[in-house]
Amino acid sequence: MTALLLSNVCKSFGQVQVLKDINLHVEDGEFVVFVGPSGCGKSTLLRVISGLEEATSGDIEICGTLVNDIPPAKRGIAMVFQSYALYPHLTVRDNMALALKQARMPKDDIAGRVAEASRMLSLEDYLDRRPAELSGGQRQRVAIGRAVVREPDLFLFDEPLSNLDAALRMNTRLEIARLHRQLGASMIYVTHDQVEAMTLADKIVVLRDGRVEQVGSPMEIYNNPANRFVAEFIGSPS
Ligand code: ADP
Ligand code: MG
Repeated sequence: MTALLLSNVCKSFGQVQVLKDINLHVEDGEFVVFVGPSGCGKSTLLRVISGLEEATSGDIEICGTLVNDIPPAKRGIAMVFQSYALYPHLTVRDNMALALKQARMPKDDIAGRVAEASRMLSLEDYLDRRPAELSGGQRQRVAIGRAVVREPDLFLFDEPLSNLDAALRMNTRLEIARLHRQLGASMIYVTHDQVEAMTLADKIVVLRDGRVEQVGSPMEIYNNPANRFVAEFIGSPS
């Protein structure tokens, strides 16, 4: 089963082409990391997959369904942003529950899912707090919890650790790896950090200037970089 299939995906903003003929597949349960320097199009690619931006051309299939014309909320995906993007006026519980309420899920089911996700992410003691009363690491766990309760077919993470200090970064990275093992879900994770990519990925996709430069396992890319750009970016010995 293929969780995501991108065929000839292009995206332009006005005259500027930001994504150039992207072809890619993510298998069910795979942890795929997109790496590349700032400005190469990583966030744009996630936004196109999620439907927050429309592709200029090309096809996007999620779990076998063509989603080009399907709105973000109905694509079976959940996205976690660098900036957490929590609602400041809502409690942790209500932040996690909101999308489920909007989908008109029965109250008991919502409560069950929020309880389970908050256990998984050690947030049980914080459910009645608002985001301003939490640390950065806790806020990011709430944002992850908000994705988990939706039980998406595909998780998208856009540099989720960038706003955390070094110790919390390590901690949260391990937490995301554990979550992946526990849920067995398909995940795409964007970072410009080589260490995160090497430690988290089943498969790394190296992007450069809107193109896929190389796809492979961390070891394949480290040992056999396709070119000097990849070698220097990943830090392979020359
Ligand atoms: P990354 O996440 O890899 O740092 P982005 O996807 O954010 O890169 O941006 C890739 C390029 O697309 C950049 O040159 C950026 O300025 C441009 N870009 C992104 N979003 C927009 C937009 N809404 N309008 C115009 N240009 C954009
Ligand atoms: Mg970005």
